[in-house]
Amino acid sequence: MRRPRRRAQTDAMDLDELVFHPWVAQGPRQVPTFVGGAGSHVVDEYGRRYLDFSSQLVFANLGHQHPRIVEAIKAQADRLCTLAPSHASDVRGEAARLIVGVAPEGLGHVLFTTSGTEAIEHAVRMARLATGRPKVLAAYRSYHGSTTTSIHLTGDPRRWASDTGAAGVVHFFGPFPYRSAFGSSTPEEECERALDHLEQVILLEGPSTVAALVLESVTGSSGVIVPPPGYLRGVRELCTRHGIVYIADEVLVGFGRTGAWFAVDHDEVAPDLLAFAKGVNSGYVPLGGVLVGERIFEAFTERPYPAGLTYSGHPLACAAAVGALRAMHEERTVESAARLGNSVLGPALAKLAEGHPSVGDVRGIGALWTIELVRDRRSKEPLVPTGAAGEANAPMAAFVRACRDRDLLTLVLGNRIHVAPPLNIGDADVATGVEVIDEALTEADAFLG
Ligand code: PMP
Repeated sequence: MRRPRRRAQTDAMDLDELVFHPWVAQGPRQVPTFVGGAGSHVVDEYGRRYLDFSSQLVFANLGHQHPRIVEAIKAQADRLCTLAPSHASDVRGEAARLIVGVAPEGLGHVLFTTSGTEAIEHAVRMARLATGRPKVLAAYRSYHGSTTTSIHLTGDPRRWASDTGAAGVVHFFGPFPYRSAFGSSTPEEECERALDHLEQVILLEGPSTVAALVLESVTGSSGVIVPPPGYLRGVRELCTRHGIVYIADEVLVGFGRTGAWFAVDHDEVAPDLLAFAKGVNSGYVPLGGVLVGERIFEAFTERPYPAGLTYSGHPLACAAAVGALRAMHEERTVESAARLGNSVLGPALAKLAEGHPSVGDVRGIGALWTIELVRDRRSKEPLVPTGAAGEANAPMAAFVRACRDRDLLTLVLGNRIHVAPPLNIGDADVATGVEVIDEALTEADAFLG
């Protein structure tokens, strides 16, 4: 059979139509085509500069074209572009040394993957193999990836379309002071009640059937929810008491995003396994991994770990991690992120909320914030319903358009505007971005009638 001839496709939007896009309905779309970048900006095909206020999908933590990362990739490309995981590699070892060097105590080994999803898959596999138990606990309002196991763990509507109902996952409620599942009135009460609830879930499921608990240390794309102090410590204690492997998902928050190397550091907690990706090398070459603690490591010293990936510890990705982590030490990037949250971005967003009736809540930590929009501050009814599209999503679409018209890229998910700039963004750029959000929020306010 002869294939139909395609018309000549040359301009960027035509070419974009050849790409099958994740998470969205297929078809032509109206988006800029990016061809370059520098620092906190990306540049489109016409030379227009956009301020990147979301670090893409919260991964370009050191911004774009950071010279230390670019040089590290180039130098490695000149030496050795690729190598199987079965061979030892100097650059892979150096990346592991730098990662373990900043990791929570006791996490002394790294399994490398090429994404966060794979890191979660492997962490769960390790926990099931090490304990011989079948079930995994995960929180509602979470995202853990988009392969079969990780999407089943995901506790938000992104799971629904892929759920087979048979993955051995049990969901529980985490603490969320703004929308408490427990009717609490203070963060302390919320923490206590959430831990009581979790213990009930464990006891009723049967601790001897639960291999692992997977938890984002700060919930990222499902709401930017910072747990009250003491919650992660309580989770650690419950896992230890019941022999459950504690897997921290730090894919989005690891490597400085929250103003600490890892978000578990805020509660001085060490999980048994920690999944990471994004910030490890700012996403310049795909890289993820699992930091492995002693208990799990020892389960695989007598018998082989029966899984792996062709590109595990890819030299170019590891070189990018070495460049990124050295730059983060030299430039004190983690301290910058903490300062950004405490003294620059956090206060600016809180102030902005005062002037807009559609803003229900502003919350976050370090360089990770969200503005949650509501119809009514008292009832907290979201400005757009879950999964809203077309007309129903008009307020958020108007906001996104208003930002883009003013050269600002933001990440809007449901009724939330996620603000997550590069950790090394300058104060002047923060002020510009917040000013644009301030103007664009007027468009959302207009829908309140
Ligand atoms: N876990 C969390 C907390 C994430 O935010 C993400 C990605 N946004 C993942 C896992 C999956 O990572 P990836 O998209 O790299 O596979």
